[in-house]
Amino acid sequence: MNFNSNFKNIAENYLFAEVADRASKYTAAHPDKKVLKLGIGDVTLPLAPAVIEALHAAVDEMAVKESFKGYGPYEGYAFLREGIKGYYADMGVSVGADEIFVSDGAKSDLGNILDIFAKDNTVLVPDPVYPVYVDTNIMAGRKIVYADATEANGFLPMPDYKVNADVIYICSPNNPTGAAYTVAQLGEWVKYALEKKAVILYDAAYESFITEDGLARSIYQVEGAKACAIEFCSLSKLAGFTGTRCGYTVIPHSLACDGYSANKLWFRRQATKFNAAPYIIQRGAAAVYTPRGMAQIKQNLAVYQRNASLIAQCMDDLGIWYTGGKNSPYIWLKCPNGMGSWEFFDFLLNNAQVVGTPGAGFGKNGEGFFRLTAFGSEDTTREAVDRIKAVIK
Ligand code: PLP
Repeated sequence: MNFNSNFKNIAENYLFAEVADRASKYTAAHPDKKVLKLGIGDVTLPLAPAVIEALHAAVDEMAVKESFKGYGPYEGYAFLREGIKGYYADMGVSVGADEIFVSDGAKSDLGNILDIFAKDNTVLVPDPVYPVYVDTNIMAGRKIVYADATEANGFLPMPDYKVNADVIYICSPNNPTGAAYTVAQLGEWVKYALEKKAVILYDAAYESFITEDGLARSIYQVEGAKACAIEFCSLSKLAGFTGTRCGYTVIPHSLACDGYSANKLWFRRQATKFNAAPYIIQRGAAAVYTPRGMAQIKQNLAVYQRNASLIAQCMDDLGIWYTGGKNSPYIWLKCPNGMGSWEFFDFLLNNAQVVGTPGAGFGKNGEGFFRLTAFGSEDTTREAVDRIKAVIK
């Protein structure tokens, strides 16, 4: 027997462990100081009441023979897929319920989707990036090329026709940079993908943070995208489902190559290896897409959006260059006074007792940048912003 030797090629992901380690060492040495955490990418507000009621009701259904549910449809229950379809319709995008596949989160689907692609495909990934895209492809032994996201392009790289790629990852609004593409910019990527006969894997996990017109919430707002793009989304950031686990993937019927339908391949893959999310969770998720559920989750999103604005305003006041903050829970800032990512991490921890995430941990182009997140409480965010202002000259 041999193990998959590609695992040797995955970089040890020490980023969050190192952040936690430095923060806890600081706390141990300074027990009197209150450390504020603006590094987490996880939500902090509880599930909306409409979701909780639906979860409880579904638990009760499972207790009664007449309403008990065993295995459900591989692609998810129609009641949830119809709700998601309606969510897309509200943003002016038409997707069929049979083009939506429910799962236990976008992370699983982003990793699992690689099952339907040939091993020798070349993958194009932006740098810096959400590490899942890189690590899953390294595990599968695929060749990765990088699209440089930098200050010069506002951390929104555009296609380079000299580069050939088969699978293209786009995350917008982006984690970690918070930068978001306009529909027109995504149109350039769709044009490139169609010309290269490539597929775009579009991660829309943060679409619910978009407030400005012209920015894309779905890649299917772009004409032609249904022939070349798969969209991944999740209830994690939309509705606080990070621990509850529910997401979905949209695969249009028109996405096909060499006689293969991507939708059919994915259905086959899911039917073989997966059984959608639990019935109870899908009932809770469906409540998100009701008018009452949507109104409630918007209140939670507004808290995070206010926090993001507070941090962005702080950067404006300090004259610090940043992306995100306006259509994203992430603020990606240029470390002041030429500091490196970890240098700025230590500076903020030691002087302001604020913890963020060093950009260098997300790729080589992240060096010299730093990520703050809006998922803390409003009080924590306000206090952190005041402290940051006091220590940066
Ligand atoms: N995509 C991006 C860009 C993310 O940042 C995250 C989580 O932080 C995910 C996907 C994973 O989402 P889920 O909780 O649905 O697995």
